[in-house]
Order: sequence, then C-alpha cells, then structure tokens
Amino acid sequence: MLELYNTATRQQQPFEPADGNIARVYSCGPTVYDFPHIGNLRTFVLSDILCRYLAFKGWDVHHVMNITDVDDKTISGALTQGVSLSEYTQQYTEYFFEDLETLNIQPAWQYPCATDHIEQMQALVQTLLDNGHAYEVEGNVYFDISSFSDYGKLSGIQPDELGDSDFSRLDDEYDREEAGDFVLWKAAKPDEPSWDSPWGSGRPGWHIECSVMSMEYLGPTLDIHTGAVDLIFPHHENEIAQSEAATGQQFVRFWVHGEHLIVEGEKMSKSLGNFYTLRDLLKEGYSPQAIRHQLLTAHYRQQLNFTLEGLEQSERAMQRLNTFIERLPKLPLPEGSSEEAIQLIEEARSNFKQVLDDDLNVPGALGVVFELIKDINMLIDAGELRDQDRTAMLNFLEQADSVLGLMTEPLEAAKTGPAADEEIEALIAEREQARADKDFARADEIRDQLAAKGIILEDTPQGTIWRRK
Ligand code: AMP
Ligand code: ZN
Repeated sequence: MLELYNTATRQQQPFEPADGNIARVYSCGPTVYDFPHIGNLRTFVLSDILCRYLAFKGWDVHHVMNITDVDDKTISGALTQGVSLSEYTQQYTEYFFEDLETLNIQPAWQYPCATDHIEQMQALVQTLLDNGHAYEVEGNVYFDISSFSDYGKLSGIQPDELGDSDFSRLDDEYDREEAGDFVLWKAAKPDEPSWDSPWGSGRPGWHIECSVMSMEYLGPTLDIHTGAVDLIFPHHENEIAQSEAATGQQFVRFWVHGEHLIVEGEKMSKSLGNFYTLRDLLKEGYSPQAIRHQLLTAHYRQQLNFTLEGLEQSERAMQRLNTFIERLPKLPLPEGSSEEAIQLIEEARSNFKQVLDDDLNVPGALGVVFELIKDINMLIDAGELRDQDRTAMLNFLEQADSVLGLMTEPLEAAKTGPAADEEIEALIAEREQARADKDFARADEIRDQLAAKGIILEDTPQGTIWRRK
C-alpha cells in the first residue's frame, strides 16, 4: 500500500483517495513572470511522479495546477516591458508549457489561470466577510487569523500577535516572525490592472487564488496538495485558514512538500541570482533526459545539491540506459525463456512497487531498474537470455517508465525499429511541403514522429538537416 509523508501530521501514512476512486491532487503552479529555473522544475517533476504513480496504482487522477498570472511580480514585469498583463503572462505561460513537455512532464487535468477566476475569488472573500473571518479597511480585505483557532496547525507557527487586527499586511510573502492578518483582496494602485468589486476596484491576494481554484475543480476537500517547502508558511497555512473558515470542512487530507534544489548550500532562486533555467542547460548541450534524471536522484524530501558534474553523471547513466534499450531488440536470441531472467524481472517488478510505496522513493526505483539492467547484461554476455525474456524485460521497462518518464523515446524507438534513412528523408520532404502549405499541425506531427524514433531536426536557412540522438 502506498504511504506518503504528510506534513500536516508529520507522519508517513497510508494513502487512498477519499472516494476510493479519483485522486484529487492540487499543485501550486508557476508564477508566470519569467522562465522557471530548474529548482521550480524539480517541484513540478515531483508532482508529475506523484500523479504518474497514483495512476500506476489504478486510480483516476484529477490533477489541477494553477497558473499565477496576477501578482506583484507579473504586474511589475508587464509595467517594465510596457505591455499588458495578459500579453506579458501569456508568453511565460507558453514557455512554461514548453519546459514541461521538454522534461516529459505529463499534462495536468486542468491548468486554471487566476485571472479567469476573479468572480469566484470575490465570492469567497464575501463569504469570509459574512461569516466574520474577514474585515475591510479602505478597499483592502484582510483575513482575521484570531477568528480561526486552527491557525498554525500546518506549519506549527503560533505568532504572539495573534488576534492583533490593527496589524494589516499587504505583502503576499513574509516570514514567520511577521505572521499576522493577511490580505485577501488588495485595493487598486494607480497604473495597476484591477477588477471591480464590492470593496472598490482591486485585485486578489495570492493565497486566495489557490483556495478558489483548487475547490472550484476538486471540491472542498482535496486528497493531496503539493508544493515546495517554502510554501508551507505563509501560503499553505493561509490557504487552510481561508478554505476551512469558508466551508467548515477539512481542506486537504495529505500535504506533500518537496525539498529545495540547492546550489552550494543555498536555495536556487531568482533573487540570489544562482539559478539555471532549463534552456541554459539545453544550450550547453545537456539532454532533457539527463536533466530529468538528475532531478530524480534525491528523494523528494531531501535537498538536491545541483552541480554540472552531477548532471554529467546523469548523461552517462542515460547513455547506458539508451544503449541497453537500443541493443536489446536487435540481439539474435534463442526461442523460449530462462527461469533466472524471469525471476530477476519479477523480483524487480515487486521491488519497484515496494520502494515507491514507501513515500515515493524514486532513487530506490532507479536503483532497481539499473540493477536489473546489470543482471540482464550479465545473462546476455553468458549467452543465457532468451527471446521471451527480452519481451518481459521490455514490458517491465515500459511499466517502470510509466512512472519515471525517463526512457519514453528510446522505448518508443525500440518498438518501432530504427528509422531507415530513406524513410526519414521522405518524412522531412513531406514536412517541408506541409510547412509551405502552412499546415503546421501536420509539420509538428512529423517532427514528433521523428523525435520518437530518436531523430532530431534542425531548420537552417539551407533547409532541414537531421541527426540521430
Ligand atoms: P513560483 O513560480 O516562484 O511560484 O514557484 C513555483 C514552485 O517552485 C513553487 O512550488 C515553489 O515553492 C517552488 N520552488 C521555488 N524555488 C525552489 C527551489 N530552489 N527548489 C525547489 N522548488 C522550488
Ligand atoms: Zn498555491
């Protein structure tokens, strides 16, 4: 049975969806004011692995990830560039989706944007005003934390100032010593985008966005809420306060928080200037597969110390994996199966589930896969591997990949066989024609089809050139 560490209870607990069928998962998504750095992406890879494993366990997964497209940072970015807020956030939302695809992160069920849910946010603020959990001061509406006796139950933070309603806070992000009433609705400032409301024109605070968008799509009680540890306080503490004060029901059953990706002992962050984006790394020639692998090398509750040396080790590990997958279908093997191989594969299958059931031990799962490859290579070298063992091995790798998402392309290529040069040339010619006809959907389809066979296209002024990965 799957067990997850729950930040709320500070214990590892058996997990099942409340209704036994659909796992309702909410992840705090990106603030679309810049390219995500790979620390952010580590957290998104965590929610990907979690959802993939929930699906592996046989549950339907309703995964919602919000897009924060209105906050202090997006507004100031748009003002600096002299473009509208939506124009500004749209480009970074697109880059975000491109990065998810590059890292083979499966799309969530819903990606709601904050600016599409302003009405629902106002309704929740109104509910909190009506039931005495909020108050208004000059167009700003604040949550009164003294009205919610469970305040602090997630983070363990119990500020002395509890109940000091003179304490008015407009910043979305603040430290534990600054805990106090927090803003639900902010009065408009000159030149800032704003929406009409019963309290004058303004915009939502950051915390209310997540309460509204999670409950809108998943109902008042979520099975799992994810994010990185920096969000425990104040963001998630405030989400609990707003949501439970409004509905009177438990907001989240399991809080799953990922530790940070760090660089030389410090959190990778924009403000410290010590960050890499995915694009920085791709430009330096690192492969998406190795980057995903590197992000999976530490357990999610451990900090991951990011180094280029570590990334190079991942490149080498992925090379071994790819060579194995590429070679396996081509080996001339005798008919039948060997008891030893089948036993090794079955043991690996059972160990793979066991380690992931233990609070998503992904490094353990990677260990199981690589250990099995080593054993199967030994059987190949000893001339003992048979044809049916090969099929069983490829089936196991496919099953493992449905969770790890690390070998999707090589496995696809192994299934379809290596692409012949003439086939590639013919598809490229068809793609060029499609582009000339402005049939970009077909052109993209062909690019994807070739990518699945490990063929990379590069469009140059002289035409399209290709190479094998
Ligand atoms: P943001 O786009 O800033 O709202 O952040 C998106 C997600 O990345 C949030 O869940 C953050 O908590 C998380 N995050 C920020 N910095 C790091 C880091 N260095 N390592 C891991 N996750 C991070
Ligand atoms: Zn959030």
